Amino acid sequence: MSASAQRQDHPRLASAVSYLDELIGFDTTSANSNLDIIAYLKRYFDELGMETTVLYDTSGEKANLIARIGPKDVPGIVLSGHTDVVPANPDRWSSAPFDMEQRGSRLYGRGSCDMKGFAACVMAAAPALIQGPLKRPFYFCFSHDEEVGCLGAPAIAKHLAELEVPPGLAIIGEPSEMHLINGQKGKIAMQVTVRGEGGHSSFSPQHVNAVEYASRIIAMISDRSRRYEREGPFDHDFSVPHATALATLINGGVATNVTPDTCEFVFELRSIDQQAAWVDMQALIDEVEATLLPEMRQVSSAAGIEWQERFSYPAMDDATGSELFQRLEPILPPRGGKVSYGSEGGVFEIDGGIPSVIIGPGSIRQAHKPDEFIEIDQLTQCLEFFDTLGDWMTRG
Ligand SMILES: [Zn+2]
Repeated sequence: MSASAQRQDHPRLASAVSYLDELIGFDTTSANSNLDIIAYLKRYFDELGMETTVLYDTSGEKANLIARIGPKDVPGIVLSGHTDVVPANPDRWSSAPFDMEQRGSRLYGRGSCDMKGFAACVMAAAPALIQGPLKRPFYFCFSHDEEVGCLGAPAIAKHLAELEVPPGLAIIGEPSEMHLINGQKGKIAMQVTVRGEGGHSSFSPQHVNAVEYASRIIAMISDRSRRYEREGPFDHDFSVPHATALATLINGGVATNVTPDTCEFVFELRSIDQQAAWVDMQALIDEVEATLLPEMRQVSSAAGIEWQERFSYPAMDDATGSELFQRLEPILPPRGGKVSYGSEGGVFEIDGGIPSVIIGPGSIRQAHKPDEFIEIDQLTQCLEFFDTLGDWMTRG
């Protein structure tokens, strides 16, 4: 018999699985309101005696939750996760996406790894985590709209930053297979509208072809990306060790024989360093406008290029030098490098001044896909980590 087969289930695993079942049952696709899941979480943490705060967005249809406990005069620890999930097309799933299903060692369902598995572990561990005489406070945070550009987290980060003694470290539970991730790229998503002048395509030299100019801008974006690849700056803790830039959506033209007067496209810039990202973005805009606008305007004074930020979130810097991290490090899981996907870690750092790392159950490889799942053993590992953390919080 293998060692794993002999291993006893963690005493709180069954409750983590049943909380996960309930959490997956809320269809919190980002387009929907998340008020039901927030009310459910609030009720749970209220009953445990935690102090809860709900932060609504301007629409009133979305909210964040902060559940707090422990002394107020020392820096505490944030455990944070988002409540929303990416859309699920049931036709491409082997089971109903919002109905958790266990098959073998895996639990299937939208959000199982990204990132309701983490929230389920926080719920299951909470009674034990908060029972000890806490030397520091815990802040359990649940945000809205992470998947559409980290829209909820800034309000949480600002709320925490305004506390008399803000938290000293945020642990973001994005799926990292329970490794410690100490860096994450930032992203700017930009929408570009190229306005030209159209007409019957047989007269094309008299027109400004918006699709052609869009393609020239995209070629410049792609050149820039190749330059990052050649010249850096590099950080080899990332699997893609440099910034990247690419167009991801495009729409233009109306008919085969009409010179298109409008073309819209979206591109993204993923950066290692967020400040450099905005400098680079402005340099790109300047270069494009200096190269193409005079040419376009020679034909039509109405031609132009509009740039609109779709969303952006900051890169998460290396927090391993921060004071609370260094105290906590002996009990943290092994390091797993840095990641190129987005998380709220950078938001906590930039908007809240709270050093952040990622540690969460499940693998990012299963996220955002049909048949998303989490290995049950990942929940166990997360619960074991919370055992150690709870113990440390009564000493540290
Ligand atoms: Zn996520």
